[in-house]
This record gives sequence, structure tokens and C-alpha cells, in this order.
Amino acid sequence: MEAKDLALDPALQRHQGWMAQAIALAETAGQQGEVPVAALVVSPEDQLVATGVNRRERDQDPTAHAEVLALRAAGQTLGNWNLTGYCLYVTLEPCPMCAGAIVLSRVSRLVYGAADPKTGAVRSVINIPDSAASNHRLTVLPGVLANPCKISSDSGLLNCAKTASRLDRPTNQDADPCYSLSLWAECCIVSENRLGQP
Ligand SMILES: [Zn+2]
Repeated sequence: MEAKDLALDPALQRHQGWMAQAIALAETAGQQGEVPVAALVVSPEDQLVATGVNRRERDQDPTAHAEVLALRAAGQTLGNWNLTGYCLYVTLEPCPMCAGAIVLSRVSRLVYGAADPKTGAVRSVINIPDSAASNHRLTVLPGVLANPCKISSDSGLLNCAKTASRLDRPTNQDADPCYSLSLWAECCIVSENRLGQP
């Protein structure tokens, strides 16, 4: 697919919209002193089913990662642990624990933002979903709104206007001051679509 065609891909635009919501949710975790990571479970009909934010510090629970909490909430909401057909969005590449939980949940698609070169267990360090230990195959779309996701994950809630000076700003910055990561994510949607880079 040509880059310009990809930029017009309505599915990509839908993924970006959900990821922008996840980034906004991650900001709230950052404000609570957590590493700001958030996850969403979205139905095949493109409806939000459940959310999760990192609560490790607040709950003093090493397993309270956004993905696990979102999958657990989705199972409770739907009355079904099997999430075949559903999509999980998360701002950061999942760790080994969460990658395992994602496989066990049977979600059909995983969309994530920033890569995690230290503990990423989907593409960066190891690949649990495609490994011999996985009994489920899913579609993976990495790098959606990766830049704002990375800022959020690295540093918590930051003033985008301040941090953007050392990063690639969307060229429409003058039109939008981008006071927050979620606003900047919206700017990046415009920018990525124009550049044709998912
Ligand atoms: Zn995790």
C-alpha cells in the first residue's frame, strides 16, 4: 500500500482516534504518580467496552498494568473472558506479563503506540504472540501515535509545548498550541495522515 493510500485508510484513522483517547487516559494515571500507560478494549462494532490505567503504585500490585486491568474489566462487563473479535489499544508496547494476558484473552488485534526497547514483549525484545508458546494468533499494529505515547511513557504528564521543542512537532503547531499530550496526539493524527506514516 502506498503511503498516501495508507494516510487515507479509514481503519488507521479509527485506530489513531482510539489511541488519542488512550493517551488522554494515560495522562490521568501520570497525574496520580503512576507511569502513565493506558489501555482500551474496543468491540468489533467499534464501541468502547473497557479501560485500564496503570495502578501499580496506588494498589501496590506488580500486576496492576493497564492491559491486564482493561482485559479483566472487559471480561467482567461482557461476562466472557474470550475477547475474540475485540481490539486492545495500549499506549506502550506490552511487557511479557501483559503480552501473555493478551494472548490468553484471544483478542483479535493489538494496537500499540510507543515501542519499549527494554521490556517490550511483542516486537522489541521478544515476540510472545508469535512464539511457539502462544496458542493464539492476533494482528499487531505497532507505532500508532508513537511519539506522544513515548513522551507520556517516558516522563509522565509533560507540558507538550515545552517538550515538543526537542521533538518533531507537527507542522500545524502554530494553529494549535498543543497544551497537553492528548491535544498533541490530535495534532499528530493530522500530521501522520498528511505524511502517510502510521
Ligand atoms: Zn505489562
